[in-house]
Amino acid sequence: MKEKSGMDLFVHPLTRNQIVDLLKDNSPELNEELFSRARKIREDIFGKKIFIYGFVYFSTFCRNNCNFCYFRKSNEIERYRKSPEEVVDIAKQLAASGINLIDLTMGEDPGYHQEEFNTVLEITKIMKEETELPVMISPGVLSDRLIDKFAELGVEWYALYQETHNEELFKKLRLHQDYFERMDCKMYAKEKGMLIEEGLLAGIGEKEEDIADSLMVMGKIGASQMRVMSFVPQKGSPMENAETPDRNVEMKIIALMRILYPYALIPASLDVDGIKGLQERINAGANVVTSIIPPQSGLMGVAQSTMDVDEGGRTVEEVKHILDGMGLSVASASEYKEYLRTLPQRSAAASGGVTC
Ligand code: SF4
Repeated sequence: MKEKSGMDLFVHPLTRNQIVDLLKDNSPELNEELFSRARKIREDIFGKKIFIYGFVYFSTFCRNNCNFCYFRKSNEIERYRKSPEEVVDIAKQLAASGINLIDLTMGEDPGYHQEEFNTVLEITKIMKEETELPVMISPGVLSDRLIDKFAELGVEWYALYQETHNEELFKKLRLHQDYFERMDCKMYAKEKGMLIEEGLLAGIGEKEEDIADSLMVMGKIGASQMRVMSFVPQKGSPMENAETPDRNVEMKIIALMRILYPYALIPASLDVDGIKGLQERINAGANVVTSIIPPQSGLMGVAQSTMDVDEGGRTVEEVKHILDGMGLSVASASEYKEYLRTLPQRSAAASGGVTC
């Protein structure tokens, strides 16, 4: 009898062990098969359309000390906190350029925590009114009371990444932070009607089994958007000298996310390899381009804080140009809103891509 190859294992739904085997098998044939299946699934559901998100990282102050992060509080770097007027102006510029959503991101800024987030709530309210675009907030861990306030403003998305679902590894990466507090926080946001984005970092000491667990948890918690980014060493951080992983790992995780959760929104982040990394992520099955930043705005990215920003590489025009060359196009704001309207039902219908 013919021995089972990696590709024979690739049946839907997948078990944890099968996901692990697929991650361990690095044969070019298997990888190509994964990417091509992921693209086919994306095309069946989303056609030729790709969504695009604008990124507004408006405060780089943070009370935490994550080992992998450039903006950790112990790192002596120049920081900024944009004024509400600046944030709203940038958001309007992004909206005019054709993005589908504004991702309002900050470190866990102690200043905003001290004032109960009044400024951020005000910014969010004005921004929603002025741009009429859906908003994702990425503020870190919040109290239930604050999540209630964002939910009342009609904020569509709450992004909060564990980065790993191995609790021991979490402790080493997110120093002095509580794994379950973070999980509970996003589950509370979901209960309040917000869509949630979960994320993992590739190349931070995880094993294939940990990646498989992350993929399963993402489905279990009902994350509607799932992101993976390759770790990039950050100057001045304790992981400054660690190596960045082979990008193939990130691409395979993107493909597996698409195969396991066909309706999920899956980012191709410009924040890892800049605009030059867009094509391979889209080819792996991603359907959202994130981290679009207006040039000369004084804003930074997260993993690659300045890469391609002022050179204009992270703009809608550049993204359109690349997608066009791939036979794809950017969705309109109304197409994105329509997709969001039906997303909760679709995610629920599609959960079942993994068996225990
Ligand atoms: S990852 Fe986020 S919470 Fe952690 S140090 Fe960086 S900005 Fe702060």
